[in-house]
Amino acid sequence: MTVRLYRDDSFLWRFTAHVREALDIDGRPAVVLDQTAFYPSAGGQPNDLGSLNGVNVIDVIERADGEIVHVLAAPLHAHDVSGEIDGARRVDHMQQHSGQHVLSQAFVTTAELDTLAVHIGADECTLDLPSPRLTPAAVERAEDAANQIVFEDRPLIVRELTDAEVACLPLRKPPKVTGRIRIVEVEGFDWSACGGTHVRSSAQIGMIKVTRTEKRGNTTRIYFRCGGRALADYRALNQLAAALIESFRMSRAEILPAIDRLRDEAKAMRKELAEAQSRLLEYEAQELLREHTGVIVKSFDARFARDANSLKFMAKRLTSGPGVTALLASNAGGRAHLCFARSADVKTDVAALLRGALNTLNSPAAKGGGSPEFAQGSGPAPDAASAQAALDSAVHELAKSG
Ligand SMILES: [Zn+2]
Repeated sequence: MTVRLYRDDSFLWRFTAHVREALDIDGRPAVVLDQTAFYPSAGGQPNDLGSLNGVNVIDVIERADGEIVHVLAAPLHAHDVSGEIDGARRVDHMQQHSGQHVLSQAFVTTAELDTLAVHIGADECTLDLPSPRLTPAAVERAEDAANQIVFEDRPLIVRELTDAEVACLPLRKPPKVTGRIRIVEVEGFDWSACGGTHVRSSAQIGMIKVTRTEKRGNTTRIYFRCGGRALADYRALNQLAAALIESFRMSRAEILPAIDRLRDEAKAMRKELAEAQSRLLEYEAQELLREHTGVIVKSFDARFARDANSLKFMAKRLTSGPGVTALLASNAGGRAHLCFARSADVKTDVAALLRGALNTLNSPAAKGGGSPEFAQGSGPAPDAASAQAALDSAVHELAKSG
């Protein structure tokens, strides 16, 4: 079976080995070595990357028989190989993995919550806790406890022990294997059965930072970042805060109240604007009623264009009294809106007029409908002339029938 060099030295970036088996994994060349420092995807920790004799290792798989398979970007024509691990990637994984052990134990000591599942992602890491409600204060207590362990620079000790020896240890979770069991201890704080790679001391984890929590049924998912990832995240958030401070020309403490105030102001202004618009529409409707009797034809365009709701409001207002037929059109953004209505005492069928008018737009995208009393629709109108032609056709049709 492949000798796993990373188990004895998790900072071993270079090694030599003999090729024991060359094979093919889904059309890619692959090799099994007599010994390797490459960590395979296992136990929630992602695999290493690197190279063998300069050929990129693109995946590392733990086979069912316990052998470690290195999947390669190109065939390897050699018996003796020298391997090189992407150390930065491995250190990142070790910071997250060791940090997870510490954080999991911190949730046990501060909240009596055992970790149900863990995941070390390419960006975020998570651990799931058996509680649907976790207050921000409870999360901070665990975070403080975890970082206290970091500050104390406690050694991480890796040992292979027998079942009997393991039975005497306060393990966070019972081991899944028997026989010789690999125990990772954060000195005096946490004991876990784990096959992963770990930093040498808690200080090498760097900061352990919970970034958010998410309620999932009866559990809570804790998102966290450790070490270099926590630094990168802090840097990005700091740049965001600095940009906000610069843009608002305010202090850090003033930003949130200022955003709240802006949101309230925008809401009040939207309300005021809507009220002003309806007052204006009312005024326009009164003006049209003063100037015309019987049939009122009006088209709005360019900067005086009206949206469908405004047209509807105006058509209803114009026909609220007796004896009026209102044919309204608005043209904006390459689209014509038509809104036809009549008073209750007028006999015209405005839905029929609308169908005819929409037909003149000559497009399957022209759609609309309504009742004999009120109908509206719209369709593509590349210019003001085509919108006007649609309205004119309705006026013409109305004159014919009258
Ligand atoms: Zn582990």
